[in-house]
Amino acid sequence: MPRDPMVTGSALDERQRDAALRPRFLREVIGQREVARRLQIAVNAARKLREPLAHILFDGPPGLGKTTFATVLPNELGTSLQITSGPALSKPADLLPFLTNAEEGSVLFIDEIHRMPRAVEEFISPAMEDFRVDIVLGEGVNARTISLTLKRFTLIGATTRSGMLSGPMRDRFKMHEHLEFYSVEDLATIIRVNAKKLQTEITEEASYELAQRSRGTPRIANSRLWWARNFAASEADGRITADVARAALDMAGVDRAGLDKQDRRYLETLIDVFEGGPTGVEALAATMNLPTDTLSDEVEPYLLREQYIIRSPRGRMATPRAFELLGRPQNRKPPTSEPTLFDAGER
Ligand code: ADP
Repeated sequence: MPRDPMVTGSALDERQRDAALRPRFLREVIGQREVARRLQIAVNAARKLREPLAHILFDGPPGLGKTTFATVLPNELGTSLQITSGPALSKPADLLPFLTNAEEGSVLFIDEIHRMPRAVEEFISPAMEDFRVDIVLGEGVNARTISLTLKRFTLIGATTRSGMLSGPMRDRFKMHEHLEFYSVEDLATIIRVNAKKLQTEITEEASYELAQRSRGTPRIANSRLWWARNFAASEADGRITADVARAALDMAGVDRAGLDKQDRRYLETLIDVFEGGPTGVEALAATMNLPTDTLSDEVEPYLLREQYIIRSPRGRMATPRAFELLGRPQNRKPPTSEPTLFDAGER
């Protein structure tokens, strides 16, 4: 589901824009420096040792660059890339063509790998470990199993919820990379680089204005830039100045703290309906008429990071910062530092 549709347009527009603006090589990737450095070492080693890259698992909220890293790596290695996703692999047979088409050293990227059924997970295990798969031919007493040897490929998995992968599956990935939200500086750089790609003039101040209001997420920075570019073309002389950026985002309902309509609705529901909590995410989702996953994968990670909410053993709670943001009086005891049962990855 695209966030604030007014800014992002349709999901298809968003996908096309992502593809057009996606970095192609590691040196073009901005931010996530530690992750990029470790991947560069893995790439160098794979080249020198003439071995396929180890299987890699990326996790983190949507739009932070999991697909970007997965597409950059085969470019670096000069190998081919196949892309599929957990929900598209409903049975082992769906996976088979990807495995048999894999070339030596090529990359198979599975997005939303936590949504892959257990049967497919079990089928892929020997492929990851020994580069072979067991296929059952026929049925009943006539059934026989043949073992098929595969080329040595690299599996890259991406997930917004590493906690939902089984332990053995997680262990089969030799590298685990967690992507964090981006700093405003890095997002401003991404915005300036992408404005150039879109042949749009943007001032440094405007790039910071957009970056500050992009929820720490490059995909959102790209949609803010896209919207500001259209706004500048229609309402100004085509250049994105700080004033143009501000007016564009105000009009799109992105507030000065960078939160969008969905974020504010979440906080309004938590504070106005549930008196600031604690309440379960399912109750919030039901009241907002949204899937629970949308809240826990897309909305909450940023609100948690910015400390508008906390997750306590008894449920979600709004912090004084959230009451202040919405201008609501806080006539209840502020949440204390109760131990948090779940960490960001384990939802
Ligand atoms: P995810 O797979 O985590 O949902 P993507 O890799 O699709 O996120 O990232 C969305 C878009 O954000 C990309 O198309 C790209 O334009 C931009 N992007 C993401 N990470 C970076 C980065 N590190 N440097 C520059 N642009 C980035």
